[in-house]
Amino acid sequence: MLDDELYRGAYGIGAEFGHMRAVPEGHLCGCGIRGCFEQYASGNALLRHAREAIHASPDIAKNLLARGDGTIEGLTGRQVTAAAQDGDTVAIAAFNTTGQWLGALCASLVAALDPEAIVIGGGVIDAGDILLTPTRDSMNRLIPFTGKRPAPVIVPATLGNDAGLVGVADLARR
Ligand SMILES: [Zn+2]
Repeated sequence: MLDDELYRGAYGIGAEFGHMRAVPEGHLCGCGIRGCFEQYASGNALLRHAREAIHASPDIAKNLLARGDGTIEGLTGRQVTAAAQDGDTVAIAAFNTTGQWLGALCASLVAALDPEAIVIGGGVIDAGDILLTPTRDSMNRLIPFTGKRPAPVIVPATLGNDAGLVGVADLARR
């Protein structure tokens, strides 16, 4: 939102921050580009980080693996979130990695836009501070010109994962 108006860009597809590039020649994204933040700092990315941890250390991660059907592919984001809420260290580490990437994206947005607040939606935000604490820590560490401005608040979207749906309905009503 810029000056209380939804910013949509010249052609209506602006503010796709998740498709800014984080990693040169990184993971292929659905948008056709490699290395987008979305591949490192989203709900799907959380699952990827968890699966990589299980793959690297199956013994340490066996409790997390047991939350699903016992296969790495069968594990779901919801199960990783539930495990993290129960204190599973591998699941929490996956959230920390996701939060570090998300915080890096937020810090870049601070450099570009100097926002008062960053509102984060999507299903993964149901995890609350398990995701937001490492995100805030990472952003605060990476904001340029530290101390020259207050850091924006990072808050979960009030409508959670339904925000997109409600937005579309609202747009259609006008
Ligand atoms: Zn992309």
